[in-house]
Parts: sequence; C-alpha cells; structure tokens
Amino acid sequence: MAQGVLCEVNSCRFWGEQNKCKADSIYIVNHSSKRADHSAETDCKTFEMK
Ligand code: SF4
Repeated sequence: MAQGVLCEVNSCRFWGEQNKCKADSIYIVNHSSKRADHSAETDCKTFEMK
C-alpha cells in the first residue's frame, strides 16, 4: 500500500475506507500534459474505475 496517501476518489478500485489509497504506488501527472500551477491541475494516472 502506498503509505500515507489519502484520496477521496471513491470510484477508483484502489480506494479504501477512511480515504486510504490501497495501490502499491501511485503515479501523478500534469493534467492535459500542461505544467501544473496548482493541485487541481494534477491527475492520478493510477486511477482505475471500480
Ligand atoms: S489510485 Fe489514485 S485515484 Fe485511486 S485511490 Fe489511489 S490516489 Fe486515489
């Protein structure tokens, strides 16, 4: 499990109770391949729909 990763995207198959991400590791990317200036412009590429 990725240690200390909290996430509220509960439609992801790695999501767990108390917002704990259960993936072994996660990969975060820039949204739309543009340079991120704030958190809303980042995306979790590890996401998989439940
Ligand atoms: S893989 Fe990404 S989207 Fe899915 S629960 Fe973990 S941090 Fe959230």
